[in-house]
Amino acid sequence: MPELPEVETVRRGLADLLPGQAVVRATVFDSPKSFPNSPTDVQQFLYGAHVTAVRRRAKVLMIDLDTRYSLVIHLKMTGQLIFRGANSFAGGHPNDSLIGELPDRSTRVQIDFTDGSHLFFNDQRKFGWMKLMPTDEIENLPFMQKVGPEPLDKKTEAGDFIKRIRRRQNSMIKPAFLDQSVIAGVGNIYADESLWAAKIHPQTRVRNVSDDQLEDLFNELRQILQLSIDQGGSTDKNYVDAEGRKGNYLSFAHVFRREGQSCHRHPDQEIVKMKVSGRGTHICPVCQVEAK
Ligand SMILES: [Zn+2]
Repeated sequence: MPELPEVETVRRGLADLLPGQAVVRATVFDSPKSFPNSPTDVQQFLYGAHVTAVRRRAKVLMIDLDTRYSLVIHLKMTGQLIFRGANSFAGGHPNDSLIGELPDRSTRVQIDFTDGSHLFFNDQRKFGWMKLMPTDEIENLPFMQKVGPEPLDKKTEAGDFIKRIRRRQNSMIKPAFLDQSVIAGVGNIYADESLWAAKIHPQTRVRNVSDDQLEDLFNELRQILQLSIDQGGSTDKNYVDAEGRKGNYLSFAHVFRREGQSCHRHPDQEIVKMKVSGRGTHICPVCQVEAK
């Protein structure tokens, strides 16, 4: 599953290429779930429309059009967005479709632009989607109403995060941290890395974590996300970004997928893998002691 840094990497890649492009047509390949839009809306609000911006909220991408409609996209498990034109971009789930001939078997939607370029929405497992809707209705979607603040938005403060996570005082901190209504876009990799950095055991109840520690956690999360974006997203397997560069966040992860290797703070201590609320979780048992 792409996490926030990967989705942001896709946004940046498309934001360089799509604005100004005019849509000619969209072809949907045998998967109505991937593109659940009425042909009338598509005719009226997509065909002939110019792209004005590419935005992101949590892990949702929005391609805004000058018809005051937007394509709202969730990549889910295996989604990819690939632009092919004079300049190209490929991002999302790492597999050969990023570089192969398109459309291919995983292509769900192909959007053609007047200059002969194309945007492909590929999705092997078909959990993702691309919905056309009025731009000003996006903020009313239940998900958008519920989702917490953006960790990388300069306006988001540690206090916003602390207030929201304290609504889950009796919960263990890791599942509370992963709750999208607490803070947007945090997935398993970044949760484990931030908890290690802030020296908090993932099973500690929120009520037993001090405000100072929560502030630390928030600041660590920000730094780690930013670092990962600077590196082009995580290399979960072999993630490839806009220019075909592989992201390399995991290559310097401190705990994620490092079970059995030594802690970067404690050379004699191995990173341990455990389950927390059903999620594989990586900790250093010396750095991260459960507070009771
Ligand atoms: Zn340690």
